[in-house]
Amino acid sequence: MTRPLRLSTLFLRTLREDPADAELPGHKLLVRAGYVRRAAPGVYSWLPLGLRVLRKVEAVVREEMDAIGGQELSFPALLPREPYEATGRWTEYGPNLFRLKDRKGVDMLLGPTHEEMFTLAVKDMFSSYKELPLTLYQIQTKYRDEARPRAGLLRGREFIMKDSYSFDVDDAGLEAAYQRHREAYVRIFDRLGFDYVVVHADSGAMGGSASEEFLAVSPVGEDTFVRCEASGYAANVEAVVVPQAPDVDEATVAATPAAHVEDTPDSPTIATLVAQADALHPRADGRSWTAADTLKNVLVLLTHPDGRTEPLAIGLPGDREVDAKRLEAQVAPATWRPFEADDFAAYPMLAKGYIGPGVLGTDSEQRGGSGIRYLLDPSVARGSAWVTGADAHGRHVFDLVHGRDFTADGVIQAGAIREGDPSPDGAGTLTLARGIEMGHIFQLGRKYAEALDLKVLDENGKLVTVTMGSYGVGVSRAVAAVAEATHDEVGLLWPRELAPADVHVVATGRDPEVFAHAERLVQDLAAAGLEVIHDDRPKVSPGVKFKDSELLGVPTVVVVGKGLADGVIEIKDRLSGTRREVAVERAVGEVLAEVRGSAPAGD
Ligand code: ATP
Ligand code: MG
Repeated sequence: MTRPLRLSTLFLRTLREDPADAELPGHKLLVRAGYVRRAAPGVYSWLPLGLRVLRKVEAVVREEMDAIGGQELSFPALLPREPYEATGRWTEYGPNLFRLKDRKGVDMLLGPTHEEMFTLAVKDMFSSYKELPLTLYQIQTKYRDEARPRAGLLRGREFIMKDSYSFDVDDAGLEAAYQRHREAYVRIFDRLGFDYVVVHADSGAMGGSASEEFLAVSPVGEDTFVRCEASGYAANVEAVVVPQAPDVDEATVAATPAAHVEDTPDSPTIATLVAQADALHPRADGRSWTAADTLKNVLVLLTHPDGRTEPLAIGLPGDREVDAKRLEAQVAPATWRPFEADDFAAYPMLAKGYIGPGVLGTDSEQRGGSGIRYLLDPSVARGSAWVTGADAHGRHVFDLVHGRDFTADGVIQAGAIREGDPSPDGAGTLTLARGIEMGHIFQLGRKYAEALDLKVLDENGKLVTVTMGSYGVGVSRAVAAVAEATHDEVGLLWPRELAPADVHVVATGRDPEVFAHAERLVQDLAAAGLEVIHDDRPKVSPGVKFKDSELLGVPTVVVVGKGLADGVIEIKDRLSGTRREVAVERAVGEVLAEVRGSAPAGD
C-alpha cells in the first residue's frame, strides 16, 4: 500500500502566477503545480509530485526494456577523458560538452551519452561470440551544455535519458536487436499516451547507418518532419534526401543563348532582382521572371570542432531558403553561422548581393576567385540556365548554364523542404508538421567497437569486431512533452499511467465529521491499492482546493463535503469535467471502477 499524500503536510506550494522564465504552457503549469523548480538555466529540481511522475515514466521504460532482455546497470556521470579522446568525441562534442578538471589538473567530463563506457565495459568482461547477443541499458542523468536550453525539461542541460546499447557479432544480429528495440519503443510510447510518428532520421554526430526517431507530434516541437500520405514515408527534415534533378536535354541546352552580363542596378535581393529583370531585360517568351529562375549564392562560415574555420558557399534557386537545421546536420560536427561583414571583407572579390558562381568553387582561385568551396542544391540540374550574380555591383549574368558555364564542388542537402514538394520515394507530395524528439534508435555499426578495439572470438576462433546499436529515450523530456500535450487552461491533465496519484480526494467545509469521513475513505482507497492525494488542509476554502485539484491534474477527483449529510460524495472526471454523486457506502467500489476504466457512464 502506498501511503496517501496529505496536502496539509506535503512539500508543495502551488503558484497562481505564471513563472517569468517559462514560455510554454505545459512548462508553466509544471512549475505552478509544484512539480519542478528551476535551479539554473536548463537545470531543474524535482519536487515530490514531479518525482512521482518521473518514476512512472522510468517504470514504463524499464518494464519494456526488461521485456526485450535488456539488463540494467548504471555508469557514472563523471567520466574520464581518455575513452572520449579515443573516439574523437572529446573534440567533436565541442562546446556542448561539460568539461572539468580534478584537483590534479586531470581532464574529466560529464557524460552527454555513454557509448564509450558501455563499449569498454563489454570489452573488459566478454571475449566470445557465445556471450552475445547482449543488450545493456541505464536510466541515468546526462549533461549537455545546450546552446539553447528551452522550455524547461524539454531541452535541459542536465536531463534523464534511458540509453541502451546492443552488441552483436554480425549485421543480422544488429538488425534483429534494432527491430526488438523498435518494437519496445512502440510499446513505450503507446503506454506513455503520445500521439507520435516514427521518422527516418539523420544519425548526426554519432555516425552509423539505419536510424529512426520517435517524435511526439506537437506544434511546440523543435523538429520538423515530413510525411507522404500515399506511401507512409516519414522523415525528419534533416534526413530528407532530395533527389538530384535530371539533366536538361541537350537540344534545350544547345538552344540556350550564350551567357550575357546585364546591368541590374539596385538589385541586391531576389525580389529586387526579379523586378529589375522584368523591367530591363524581359524574357523573350513574354513570361515574367520569377525567383525560381534565379540562382542565389549563400555564404556561411563553418567552425570545426578543433576551432578551425572554413567558408562555404551554397547555390540554390532564389525561391528556396537554406534550412538551418538541414545545414547543421550536413556540416556536423562543424557548426555554422552566416557570413558577416568581416568575413566578406576577407574576400574582396565577393560583391555582396551580386555574388555568382564565377568567383566560387575550389578551382576559382586560378581565375582570381575566392577559392571558397561551392555546393549546389540538388534541384539545380545540369544544363539548367540561371540568372545569377555577375560579381560586380549592380550586375547580373543571364543564361548561365550549369555544366556549360559553371561547375561546383558538389551537392548539399541544405535547401528548405516545403509543403507540397515531391516525396523522395516518388510516391506523392510531402506535408510538414512539427514534433518533439522523444526517442532515437540507430544502428551504430562498428564505429565505437573499432575505435575502442572491442573484438570477440567467432565460431572459427577468429577475432571479429563487434557491431553495436544505440538507443535513447528522453525520460525527463517525456514528462515535459506529456505536460505540453495534455493540459487545459486551468491545469495539468495526466494520463492514468503517469499521474502522480490515482485519485485526489478533497474534503471541504469545516465540519470535523466531513474530514474524519474523508480520511476513512482515503484509508480505504489506499488499502484497495490506489495512490491517493488527500486535500485535508483545514483552513483552505473549497474554491482554492478545487482550483488546486485542477492544477495538479490527477484524473479522478473525489469531493467529500456537504453531500455527506445526504449520504453522498461526488466523483469528478478531471478530463471530461463530468461529475456524479454516489452513495457513501459504494464510494470505494465506484472510485476503483473509475480508476480502472470500467465506471458506469457519468450523468
Ligand atoms: P535533440 O535533437 O533534441 O538535441 P539529440 O539528437 O541530441 O536530441 P540523442 O543524442 O539521440 O538526442 O539523445 C537521445 C534522447 O535523449 C533524445 O531522443 C531526447 O529524447 C533526449 N534528449 C536529448 N537531448 C536532451 C536534452 N537536452 N534535454 C532533454 N532530453 C534530451
Ligand atoms: Mg541534441
